[in-house]
Amino acid sequence: MFEQIKLDYGFDALEPYIDAETMETHYGKHHATYTANLNKLAEQAGKINESIEDILAEVVEVEDINLRTGLRNNGGGYYNHNLYFKQIAPGGSKSPTGRLAAKIDECFGSFDSMKEKLTALAIGQFGSGWAWLSKTAEGNLYASKTDNQDNPISLHTGHTPIMCIDVWEHAYYLKYKNLRASYIEALWNVINWDVVGSLYEG
Ligand code: MN
Repeated sequence: MFEQIKLDYGFDALEPYIDAETMETHYGKHHATYTANLNKLAEQAGKINESIEDILAEVVEVEDINLRTGLRNNGGGYYNHNLYFKQIAPGGSKSPTGRLAAKIDECFGSFDSMKEKLTALAIGQFGSGWAWLSKTAEGNLYASKTDNQDNPISLHTGHTPIMCIDVWEHAYYLKYKNLRASYIEALWNVINWDVVGSLYEG
């Protein structure tokens, strides 16, 4: 049985960057629906006791195309939003520290360069999708983007996501309307780098 990550902050805790109505709808409706659908489909597929990472990594092997597509979309939606809501927790460090900070400098040149690269990927994603900062098998960092609810696990990259930017319109349209770039600029203010750092340390 899959459960949404519990938020230890209120829907209004990320104002003015992410508004309370968007948070309430995003978490309480969109993420809740992905989670409910995943539970139904994982039950049907006999995978209810598997980890979400295993389900996503093995989803291409599901024979029934409706079940395969459903697990890919709703399993991705479940996993992706758990990471998204975990990393935008208020409080924590406002910029990376420790080994993550050093690795960002090594792989991207600087924190600002990494943000620019990820911002460009997020803005450049055509239609719904995500931008990702991931840890490679060698412990390096990699920036990428994906369509819909795909992620670096379901696409078999071998990378582990440690930070993400949701660029589905439901993530920003109530407040930012068509201005995706303004939402992304605001989002950088609410990333909790202590959370991302602990995911990097794995
Ligand atoms: Mn979303």
